[in-house]
Amino acid sequence: PFELTGKTVYVAGHRGMVGSALVRRLAREDVKLVAVDRREVDLCNQAAVFNWFAKTRPQVVFLAAARVGGIVANDTLRAEFIYENIAIAANVIHAAHQSGAEKLMFLGSSCIYPKLAAQPLREDSVLTGPLEPTNEPYAIAKIAGIKMAEAYRSQYGCDFISVMPTNLYGPGDNYHPELSHVVAALIRRFHEAKVAGARSVAVWGTGTPRREFLYVDDMADACVHLMKTYSGAELINIGTGEDITIAEFARSVAEVVGYIGEITFDTSRPDGTPRKLLDVSRLASLGWRARTWLADGMGQTYQAFLATSDKRTESCSC
Ligand code: GDP
Repeated sequence: PFELTGKTVYVAGHRGMVGSALVRRLAREDVKLVAVDRREVDLCNQAAVFNWFAKTRPQVVFLAAARVGGIVANDTLRAEFIYENIAIAANVIHAAHQSGAEKLMFLGSSCIYPKLAAQPLREDSVLTGPLEPTNEPYAIAKIAGIKMAEAYRSQYGCDFISVMPTNLYGPGDNYHPELSHVVAALIRRFHEAKVAGARSVAVWGTGTPRREFLYVDDMADACVHLMKTYSGAELINIGTGEDITIAEFARSVAEVVGYIGEITFDTSRPDGTPRKLLDVSRLASLGWRARTWLADGMGQTYQAFLATSDKRTESCSC
């Protein structure tokens, strides 16, 4: 096992939904946490990243920084998604190597797997077929990060590992109406419909795609567990091992929020990949499983949404 105690631990992306969950989880470990604001070090800026690493020399790196978004953001901001995510991965992974970091965890995504790969998605199905077109630029950037971690392990002997989370949700998500992921989008839309007394809410697509949802605090716990216990070139999927249709999910959001009107499906909007359920047997064999039920995690997420709704702005923060 890898000892975290006493180490200088850097969380890249500490203001994001995943990074902030990692910061919450790492507060329970005896580590020296370091983070740096985007205004001070832009992770797309190679020189800034290299200088900061040379000065700070983190021993452990969680690479949770990324340009992320839902299906529309991925599909329309294609250049930004590929450029920024490749730049972040390249700069941080190389800087970690250069500055002598002992261990690094790269956070990928379940969208790296081929659109039509066998379900549940096994780690070894990566690069066996074409990707889902709506998020291909993002997926290619994440695959580049995975392959970098692998290459630095094989050439330099760096203990760099990669994990593939399923669709994540929780406090600190982005609630942009157009660019967010489905969980945040529907919490907001159903909440606003309830407040306005609307009788109908439209959900994108046909409602038939299946998705797996993992609560972000479970994700952070899995990351810390794997950082301590796993070392190897193989990818590790992180998920619950269970999925539901978007239609079922929409009904459960309506219930959590207390919206009682009709739910319709706007088929002019994209469905994306039909299914992406992760095979989590490798993760289970490493001694970790998800604990938070979707209904509980959604309840907590909605409470966090309500608590911060006065601070949220209508405009895009990207
Ligand atoms: P994906 O898992 O990469 O496709 O990302 P998303 O979280 O954006 O979308 C998941 C699924 O939810 C897709 O099938 C979407 O069509 C569906 N969906 C339904 N309503 C919405 C919505 O309001 N926003 C988003 N982003 N997706 C929605």
